[in-house]
Amino acid sequence: MSDPSPSAPTREGARLIDGTALAKRIRAEVAADVAALRLRGVTPGLAVVLVGDDPASGVYVGAKERASREAGMAGDTIRLPANASQSELLALVERLNRDERVHGILVQMPLPAQIDPDTVIRHIRPDKDVDGFHPVNVGKLLIGHTDGFVPCTPAGVQRMLVEHGVATRGAECVVIGRSTIVGKPMAALLMQAGAGADATVTICHSRTRDLASHTRRADILIVAAGRPRMVTADMVKPGAVVIDVGMNRIADATTASGTRLVGDVDFEGVRLVASLITPVPGGVGPMTIAMLLHNTVRAARRTLDA
Ligand code: NAD
Repeated sequence: MSDPSPSAPTREGARLIDGTALAKRIRAEVAADVAALRLRGVTPGLAVVLVGDDPASGVYVGAKERASREAGMAGDTIRLPANASQSELLALVERLNRDERVHGILVQMPLPAQIDPDTVIRHIRPDKDVDGFHPVNVGKLLIGHTDGFVPCTPAGVQRMLVEHGVATRGAECVVIGRSTIVGKPMAALLMQAGAGADATVTICHSRTRDLASHTRRADILIVAAGRPRMVTADMVKPGAVVIDVGMNRIADATTASGTRLVGDVDFEGVRLVASLITPVPGGVGPMTIAMLLHNTVRAARRTLDA
């Protein structure tokens, strides 16, 4: 089976949300903002810290550095060995906190076992925390203050909904997953007052009883569980908007690599029921880096306004 083309409408059923095209547009907007900032003497700087040599993390970090440079930013990756101590990493974060050329700091997760991720996140200056994971930014999101940073993946999902004119006000919105990276901030965003929000939000997780009874009520269903194709057509209300955050690599003997990327939604079945759906790949994935660049430009612009 070939991957769905995000640019082509499906023959029947749902329209596709083309995350690749939207991310490209956002990255072009960011590049224009970077050019304007550079004229005012500020080159937005993103520092990505990678500890160890996990191959998947290496790929993500490489993509972030490339994207930031393509947008005209100063994008740097700082690598520490897998056996680096927590105090070494904290010292690096402190140095980046003080460095005026660095506007955004991102420490790539997961970290090796000897380092506590929460301690590291708490050391990043909140106004450089472009991942939006520092407790100050998490709190601002929950309160509804808009001067913090919102985690990139849920911010990207909200932007997708807005760009496609999805009516969120008063809508029944069900989020599957309660992680601090996706599920919780997604729910917090959608429950706020304002554009792209004002929804009635239900969060489901691994202890939820009768998951389908919740998902079938959803006008907007957002799935971030990390379970390949767990959401099937019978769990989706006809006409619902379905956003698939999941990225799961499964075995597939028909591909050259022997694996294939699938989401948490059974795309082939669900697209016949939904009105709008994101493919995997080409849906939410590309939006995450675009929103990271967006957050970094905001961080840099603030240093001028301060
Ligand atoms: P996580 O493992 O931290 O959280 C998964 C959540 O799903 C948990 O809260 C758990 O309670 C819930 N869950 C698991 N099984 C369930 C079930 N059977 N029924 C109901 N709830 C269930 O994962 P995460 O970091 O939030 O990521 C979720 C998925 O999204 C993964 O596939 C990940 O690769 C993907 N992801 C994609 C992007 C992107 O840019 N597209 C970014 C982050 C995460």
